[in-house]
Amino acid sequence: MSTSIKDYAIATIASHTALQILKGARDEGFKTIAIVTPEVRRVYESFKVVDEFIEIPSFSDYFSIEDQLIAKNAIVIPHGSFVSYVGVEEIASKMKAMYYGSRGILRWESDRSMEREWLKAAGLNLPRVFKSPDDIDCPVIVKFHGAKGGFGYFIAKSPAEFRERIKEFPGENEYAIQEYIVGVPMYVHYFYSELNGELEVMSFDKRYESNADSIGRIAAKDQIEANIRTSYTITGNIPIVVRESMLPMFFNIGESVIKHSKNLEGAPKGLFGPFCLEGIIDPNLNFRVFEISARIVAGTNPYIEGSPYTALRYKEPMSTGRRLARELKEAIETGRLQDLLS
Ligand code: ATP
Repeated sequence: MSTSIKDYAIATIASHTALQILKGARDEGFKTIAIVTPEVRRVYESFKVVDEFIEIPSFSDYFSIEDQLIAKNAIVIPHGSFVSYVGVEEIASKMKAMYYGSRGILRWESDRSMEREWLKAAGLNLPRVFKSPDDIDCPVIVKFHGAKGGFGYFIAKSPAEFRERIKEFPGENEYAIQEYIVGVPMYVHYFYSELNGELEVMSFDKRYESNADSIGRIAAKDQIEANIRTSYTITGNIPIVVRESMLPMFFNIGESVIKHSKNLEGAPKGLFGPFCLEGIIDPNLNFRVFEISARIVAGTNPYIEGSPYTALRYKEPMSTGRRLARELKEAIETGRLQDLLS
């Protein structure tokens, strides 16, 4: 394997965090490739972060162009849209191009009960889950499987209320009932270096969701009269700086999640690279985690020029996209690229 980054390219699907990933790759000296559809191409041309375009009719046609990526010695970077267009199983069993990260881990993060098993073993403070609606004894959030952007999620406070609300979703039998945590949403973005075994806290965000983030703009009386139902459709991300005294907790739980990823079945290398813990901070400052994303998250996008935390550690603007490109560069130059692929 070559130890010059000139012999490689960094490629990803043009969506989600692609602008950040490709800019970061370019800043580190890599050639960049964007896999585009005709609809999105102009955006990626406009922002000047792409050296080469590969166009496909739809992102789900990824496998029709994979040979081109292999011929160009491209390292493919997965992100949220990449995983959802290409598919967890297809990535695990069919992908042949060089893949940055641990593919097996995607199975663990995309299955709610496997994810819970992992996070529980890591000692995280998770919301309670209810096996049966009859057990509901506190406010709960009901999450449908595969519901994009939290659409259709609802809140119930008792078995009777659950039965009433679920009538609105005939035929929907796949859902999880989770304790509803009252507090503020918080998403912590990490980077774990497989090369030097160090965990970095990169940044924090919260989501800007429609209509959840606007319901408070009208009076409670009007909300009730208009019969508004809450939805959590993501529209963007808002940066956060946390209380400094909470940082030790964030480092501790991040390290524990990494440690407990090392013995997950089907993911021999465990988790490395960018990942995110998603939760709610309650008024007693407990971080109640309801999800992990084992890849770069869109909440890092406000920090293309770096975050307050990366500004402390790095002399140059360090986005998560650039951090992972730097890791790849170091791996290539020291003959360890294979350590970052799976
Ligand atoms: P993703 O695209 O990340 O998979 P999703 O559609 O699965 O998202 P979640 O991220 O699970 O949805 O949650 C959607 C919204 O519901 C978020 O705003 C989150 O803050 C809120 N939420 C999720 N779980 C809880 C909980 N247990 N208590 C309070 N709020 C919650």
